[in-house]
Amino acid sequence: MVTLLDTQSRQTARHPEKARRPDTEMLRKPDWIRVKAPGSEVYRETREIVRTHGLVTVCEEAGCPNIGECWSKKHATMMIMGEICTRACAFCNVRTGLPTALDPNEPENVALAVQKLGLEHVVITSVDRDDLPDGGAQHFADVIRAIRALNPRTTIEILTPDFLRKEGALEIVVAAKPDVFNHNLETVPSNYLTVRPGARYFHSIRLLQRVKELDPQMFTKSGIMVGLGEERNEVLQLMDDLRVADVDFLTIGQYLQPTRKHHKVERYVTPEEFKSYATIARTKGFLLVSSSPLTRSSHHAGEDFAKLRAARKARLGQA
Ligand code: SF4
Repeated sequence: MVTLLDTQSRQTARHPEKARRPDTEMLRKPDWIRVKAPGSEVYRETREIVRTHGLVTVCEEAGCPNIGECWSKKHATMMIMGEICTRACAFCNVRTGLPTALDPNEPENVALAVQKLGLEHVVITSVDRDDLPDGGAQHFADVIRAIRALNPRTTIEILTPDFLRKEGALEIVVAAKPDVFNHNLETVPSNYLTVRPGARYFHSIRLLQRVKELDPQMFTKSGIMVGLGEERNEVLQLMDDLRVADVDFLTIGQYLQPTRKHHKVERYVTPEEFKSYATIARTKGFLLVSSSPLTRSSHHAGEDFAKLRAARKARLGQA
């Protein structure tokens, strides 16, 4: 049976900074935003491993609609450095506040969980840690190295914050050699002040470009949500900006509103429009594009990594 996962009922005191905001109107979800309800045996096993190792997952924190599918395949995206973020983006369901100290055992715990889940490809993300002098870069590097030490065959994808005003942080992370470096632009530049106020669009573009300059072999990836009031031409311009930064992989998914206090869904983009974005993005030269209503940066990340490698080989004429 297919049911709609209700991420909207998670409205609690997670977002004190948003409490005074007026309620926004919540549009009814269209038929094409339908997901499997969580509950399989493997799903429960995944949850058990996550709990046993005291891990935080973005799957749960963000109220991701794909959790039933992903956890039933043991695909969980770990969120490191705690569950409290120093930013307050208008779309995000992660709690905002002053984070707790870093857990020195986290790198080992994450590596053990990757081993127990038997992951061939793992995605690691984090909250923003503007409170730390390096933005958490060294901790990211420690997690990558711990995973490698215990799981040498597992490929590693990281989805990082922007390390804004953290001189030297990016270099520390790139030196740890993740296989895929993902940093999401989230939305078009005209939306930044309302959707992603703590970030700077051109800084994020430059961050991705710098990864490629530091390590031309590293795959780079970025993603956006649509349905936040962006114009089609703005999305096409953003694609060009990412191509200038030599980004390999673009993901585009529908924004879903976690609570009434979050940014409103301005529009549900149709599956046909997603396909059209994918076609245009491919012609602009991305190695890989995933564009659909339920696309999320970490959704099918393992399969997509294999496709990325194959696409690069084919482009280099090595297929
Ligand atoms: S799409 Fe990503 S965040 Fe969502 S459940 Fe799957 S792995 Fe977790």
